[in-house]
Amino acid sequence: MEMENAILIPQKSALAINNILIVDDTPDNLRLLSKTLIQEGYKVRCAVNGSMALLTIKAKLPDLILLDINMPDMDGFEICKILKDSVLTRDIPVIFVSALDEIFDKVKAFELGAVDYISKPFQIPEVLSRVSNQLNLQNLRKQLIQKNQLLEIEIKNRISAEQEIRQLNVELEQRVVERTYQLRTEIQERQEVQKKLEYLAWNNSLTGLPNRLWLIEKLKRILNRASSANQEKLAVIILDCNRFKIINDSLGRQAGDSLLKMISERLRSQISDRPSKIHITHFGEDKFAIILENIQNVDQAIAESKSIHQVLSPAFVIEQREIFITVNIGIVINNSNYLQPEDIFRDADLAIQKAKTSSSCYYRVFDSTIQNNALAILELETDLRIALKRQEFYLNYQPIISFNTGKIVGFETLARWNHPQKGFISPGKFIPVAEQTNLILPLGMWILKEACQQIRIWQDRLDNQHRDFTVSVNISGKQFEQENFITQLDRIIADTGINIKHLKLEITETLLMNNTEIADRIFSQLKARKIQLAIDDFGSGYSSLSYLARFPVDTLKIDRSFVSRLDEKNQASTIVKATLDLAHNLGFDVVAEGVETAEQIQQLKDWGCEFAQGYYYAKPLDEDSAWEFMKLNLASATNN
Ligand code: C2E
Ligand code: MG
Ligand code: MG
Repeated sequence: MEMENAILIPQKSALAINNILIVDDTPDNLRLLSKTLIQEGYKVRCAVNGSMALLTIKAKLPDLILLDINMPDMDGFEICKILKDSVLTRDIPVIFVSALDEIFDKVKAFELGAVDYISKPFQIPEVLSRVSNQLNLQNLRKQLIQKNQLLEIEIKNRISAEQEIRQLNVELEQRVVERTYQLRTEIQERQEVQKKLEYLAWNNSLTGLPNRLWLIEKLKRILNRASSANQEKLAVIILDCNRFKIINDSLGRQAGDSLLKMISERLRSQISDRPSKIHITHFGEDKFAIILENIQNVDQAIAESKSIHQVLSPAFVIEQREIFITVNIGIVINNSNYLQPEDIFRDADLAIQKAKTSSSCYYRVFDSTIQNNALAILELETDLRIALKRQEFYLNYQPIISFNTGKIVGFETLARWNHPQKGFISPGKFIPVAEQTNLILPLGMWILKEACQQIRIWQDRLDNQHRDFTVSVNISGKQFEQENFITQLDRIIADTGINIKHLKLEITETLLMNNTEIADRIFSQLKARKIQLAIDDFGSGYSSLSYLARFPVDTLKIDRSFVSRLDEKNQASTIVKATLDLAHNLGFDVVAEGVETAEQIQQLKDWGCEFAQGYYYAKPLDEDSAWEFMKLNLASATNN
């Protein structure tokens, strides 16, 4: 407050430059007043009448006017009124000057805007005091106005600054909103990527089903739960699609992928009504696994397996072809012995293997006999390795007879194993294990060599009689697939020096089905060497005769399971008859396997079957008995 007052107090120097206009028609007055004021340091101008006064004012605005009231042309009131009416001059303070004896209307003077009045004759100190007061007031007013203007500018500035701040705030808020939105979408995107990664980790990208990893986690949780609380019954069903590899190889990966998707869809539809208790996973390439939670008994799992089998039975249409798949199913019911998911998978796999070797049932529930069996197989494998080293194997020869002439046309060689402790082990038992473990490769080569050595012996003995006899050797698919099979065969033939016409190779139809390309390649190499070929166990697999027609085969061997059922009036007879007709049309000759009765012989003979092999004529014989049999048979036949 004090500061402000200090600023408002006029300085002496400021007063010095104030200029004052004196308007009076009396020259003495003018002189006296102007002299006094000039002496005080004011700039003074004088006017002797109204019109001159107005002109002077217009030329330069005075800071104060001393205005005489009584003047001839225009009195002081009039001049004052003119001044107050003009924006330019209305703020100039006017002090009226009047003689004491004049009648002076003070009220009118103030109404007109005068600020003070002085009486004549002058009291000089009074004049100076009044003038100085008015000038001070005027200066203060001016300063106030200036200050007001400054304040107004300041206020304006503040308002615009505030507006600017407000604007900046708005912009800032806008940017915060935008950035928040950006961050939110970034977070969302990241979460989506995360979700996608997680999805891929737990699901098969082709079928969209949960994968093996998911299954392992799920089972771990269930097994943990089971070990802590009451055990809840649970079944794991693993499904193995059998012909997937063939479809992939023959129609291409894309077709294989479509097939897997279709299988998944059918499986999904199978469980759509109870999604919480049953889970389907894509376990491996052509394997699916199903978990059944909270089941009451095994029958429930079997029923489920049957309906899965049923839902997959109808044809799948891929690239305008109808494709059928077959499945084998292994079922495991959990118990406290299972600590790891892998244990369950191992047993399910054993059950699948068991189901595969069974001709009657496509599914199998794992039980302890399978377990023991698996152990037995393991033991057998060890024994087989030792047997190979110790040469515990030998060959038997089973005669093959012509229906027409009753003459022997050759033998089938059959592998035999005499285990030093366990005695005779059937090839039906050890050949599959040898195939699983690849031991069939060295064993098969040994058999082939042994058979060829035998051919050489018989060929030499029969030389002068020019006998056309053939010795058939069973060849496993595993051997056939070997790159060097033909090379090894060539070497054995060269080493033993046999006549190639005495050798025939027997392979199963499943080998052709699974390895069409390999079969084509090797068959043409065999044909180039004029080695004869027989299809073994025909009818036990899936192939059709028309399918076999593309291969350069000489002989078809009808599976024993058909021949043994010929006596009954059933479908087997029809199949055998049809097979014979078709085989002959295709130029194959036919051997009936496992002929045991005269009725069978009669029937087969009537239908035009060329050859027979079976206990009716002879069991598989050792080499000496086989030679005796041949000699006797040839002699009797020649006698005929
Ligand atoms: P396969 O090649 O179909 O052999 C015919 C099987 O039927 C032989 O059984 C034979 O003894 C048997 N058999 C012959 N006639 C009759 C009959 O009238 N009644 C009955 N009930 N059975 C008869 P084996 O010797 O037990 O051989 C079984 C299978 O083992 C063979 O079936 C063949 O697949 C495989 N095998 C045998 N020897 C060899 C071999 O040297 N190499 C390969 N890779 N597999 C072999
Ligand atoms: Mg055979
Ligand atoms: Mg056979």
